[in-house]
Amino acid sequence: MDLATTCTTCPYCGVGCGVVATVKDERLIAVAGDPSHPANQGRLCVKGSTLVETQGHESRMLVPSVDGVDVDWSTATREVADRFMKIIDQHGPDSVAFYLSGQLLTEDYYVANKLMKGFVGSGNVDTNSRLCMASAVAAHKRAFGEDIVACDYEDLDTADLIVLVGSNAAWTHPVAYQRIVNAVKNRGTEVVVIDPRSTSSCDIATLHLALKPGSDVALFNGLLTYLNQNDLCDHDFIEMATDNVENCFQAAQLSIIEVSAATHLPIDLVTRFYECFGGTRKTVTIFSQGVNQSVAGTDKCNAIINCHLATGRIGIKGAGPFSITGQPNAMGGREVGGMANQLAAHMDFTTQHIAAVQEFWGARNIATAPGAKAVDLFDKMALGEIKAVWIMATNPAVSLPDTAQVKKALTRCELVVVSDTVQRNDTLEFADIMLPARGWGEKDGTVTNSERCISRQRQVLPAPVSARADWQIITDVAHAMGFQKAFAFESAYEIFKEHAALSGHKNSGKRLFDISSLADISKTEYDELQPFTWPIKKKPFEDNRFSTASGRAFFVAVTPGVAAQATNAEYPLVLNTGRLRDQWHTMTRTGTSSKLFAHQSQPLIEVSLSDAEQYGVNADDLIQLSSRQGSLVSRVKVTETLQPGQLFMPIHWNEQFASTGSVGQLFSRAVDPISGQPELKHAAVKFEPVKTTCWARVFSQETLPRSSLMNFQYWVRKPVADGGWEFECAIEESDETNQGGVAESSVNSGIVNKNSVFKSIASLQAQLKKLFPGCHIQNYRDSVSQVHRCMGFHAGKLIYSLVSGPSLSELTSLSLPYQLIPEQSQWRGLTNLAGNRAAASPLVCTCFEVTKAEIESALEMGSETLSELGKALKCGTNCGSCVPEINQLIRQHTKTAEQNRYQEVAR
Ligand code: SF4
Repeated sequence: MDLATTCTTCPYCGVGCGVVATVKDERLIAVAGDPSHPANQGRLCVKGSTLVETQGHESRMLVPSVDGVDVDWSTATREVADRFMKIIDQHGPDSVAFYLSGQLLTEDYYVANKLMKGFVGSGNVDTNSRLCMASAVAAHKRAFGEDIVACDYEDLDTADLIVLVGSNAAWTHPVAYQRIVNAVKNRGTEVVVIDPRSTSSCDIATLHLALKPGSDVALFNGLLTYLNQNDLCDHDFIEMATDNVENCFQAAQLSIIEVSAATHLPIDLVTRFYECFGGTRKTVTIFSQGVNQSVAGTDKCNAIINCHLATGRIGIKGAGPFSITGQPNAMGGREVGGMANQLAAHMDFTTQHIAAVQEFWGARNIATAPGAKAVDLFDKMALGEIKAVWIMATNPAVSLPDTAQVKKALTRCELVVVSDTVQRNDTLEFADIMLPARGWGEKDGTVTNSERCISRQRQVLPAPVSARADWQIITDVAHAMGFQKAFAFESAYEIFKEHAALSGHKNSGKRLFDISSLADISKTEYDELQPFTWPIKKKPFEDNRFSTASGRAFFVAVTPGVAAQATNAEYPLVLNTGRLRDQWHTMTRTGTSSKLFAHQSQPLIEVSLSDAEQYGVNADDLIQLSSRQGSLVSRVKVTETLQPGQLFMPIHWNEQFASTGSVGQLFSRAVDPISGQPELKHAAVKFEPVKTTCWARVFSQETLPRSSLMNFQYWVRKPVADGGWEFECAIEESDETNQGGVAESSVNSGIVNKNSVFKSIASLQAQLKKLFPGCHIQNYRDSVSQVHRCMGFHAGKLIYSLVSGPSLSELTSLSLPYQLIPEQSQWRGLTNLAGNRAAASPLVCTCFEVTKAEIESALEMGSETLSELGKALKCGTNCGSCVPEINQLIRQHTKTAEQNRYQEVAR
């Protein structure tokens, strides 16, 4: 069979890397970075590199269903249209809503927005991008008059100083980070990291400012004051191209001493940062979720932008404020108006813009006011005001704050339609109508990355028979609603042309987003479209003109705000959240790759060394973490990367993968009043240890239903290599919370605990027997360690294994009696089962599957540098994502060796 290679785009982060996909026999067999793509120039990070592993159909939604019954597409389409129309007729257009996603392609986004805003007549279209960069959008509009990202990736190659604010780019935007690493190496670019945590991005930093969470406005207002007082502002630029500077200086007034008090940073560190910024013209300030996800997110973004306006460091090569997006097509959504407070093509809900869009679309019933933003939209659902919602390609039951309220909203909502690629996620559990969508590799269209670069995403794989492109599903529903003429699209190409034409409609240079020169491209030209950045052949603001009515940028006067959830004696700690290096969003994509779980396999709660000591917890202990909103149970990771009083937890886990569910349940619905972006980086919390009486580990070739795990207060699951799943479960010492059918009268007695454990393990065994009938079962019990193993074999192969005992360490260090396992067993889950310590060590280099233990061993054996380790183990020699962690291990090893030497000399 011939190999087919196609240039397309990675579906993960906002870097938007070009990918060369190789397909054989209709299967994706390889991906590589596209050397010709300007965003990555051939590089890929580990997530992009493992795309091959995540393209299976095992967990796919394959058939449309209505009220739990599989139906054909015409029935599903008619049901969606009829039920929506009925609710609109009875309660008006604002009783319905769409909730979209930065995973959609621009063409999908365009038709969804057109249908709701143009033809249903409501502004109720919002997107999960609200959780990601809505504050940056609002700040851009306030300062520039339009949502324009001022930089592109080439600026990273030419900057002399790069400031990373609230961004662990090493993990969240790895390929862009590699560009920064190269700039550091090749031209001595300095890097400053501003983040309460010491992250992997600090590996290349000259300065790390571990500021008090939420104190960014004070830091940048102080910088603005410093620039002004030290005559470091570009007065010509301010005079020529901006307004409101004096008010801004006035509001920003903060001395370095005051900044130090507000940020908890030493005075000399603040001074060094200010001197560095003040003295470096070519400065890029990158900011992302650490800045945006706050009740003062918009002000924080404007505080950063103000410093760039004051120094004229915008519109020039190698300088500018650079908001980087989390999702692959958050920017495309912004271009078409996929947010509730935008209309389309960077037009707003003004009389002029409404008339322009109405005329262009021929929309009789255009929305005339913004709709509800994400958190508000789900609140309206919970109140019964929004009665129908169509959720596309996103999982709000995990990703929004206060997930209990989101679930209440979805329960109350009369009609929940979900189109997605997966069969199961936390949101789909509430769906009345489920619509199978095409996934990455099966779709055609365009995406826009963080630097405004529009790239083609091309179909490389055949889609499952019943899966449809999102634009097609929406267009079919629009037809069934009676809007055939306005939605006479036959392909993504036709939608793109209309989108391009709208960007130029009544524009005349007023809006920089104008790609109307592409409105008449041929189908072949669309198919062959090469990545291009808008504004076409121009750098934003290079002519010192902005998109405001005056053409001048606006200094927004801002003052420091406070977090919505204040700490107090009851909730004394601050919880921060973020992404891990190898996982993506709510794991609907990465959750099938065992490789991507090898870096971190559990939703660990990171606790600082001093808090661990103070609260008496150790690594791997279970703790209960509670906020005013909710609580969860998970294991501890003790770390030196956090300041005392701060905790960190990843955002990815959910009820499909862990009993903890989503960390979002701990966050309140407080939002930035301007952008509507929720505060997902700051919750006031407390924790207490959870004592356990029993742990169990299960390896099974099929996953277990959640119902079989109800007796365990804690469980997590992960895929294992060569198929199958590993579960880790724990039972709390007191059985008061055990719902496993233990006699209530005997609560708290040791006997009950034993009964409870027995029943819980027995229920797991029963479930395994049910899942794998006809297995030959072997049991082994060690009366000394009280460890019990139960293994099911079929046709000479190990099908499942259950190991239980009083402590986790007993299970992980367990060596299996090999004689019980037939030699012909091929299932590699056995490697873990045998308690292989090397395999249990976390992966540092995912590309070459090199573990922490192997790197430590190589260091012991004499390797001293990154390149020596690379030669010995190949680690760190491909995508580079693991280099900061390898460097950290080298530093640790050197420190320990020095301490040992010192102690020897002292002896
Ligand atoms: Fe994909 Fe982002 Fe990694 Fe590039 S950096 S390969 S876009 S996840």
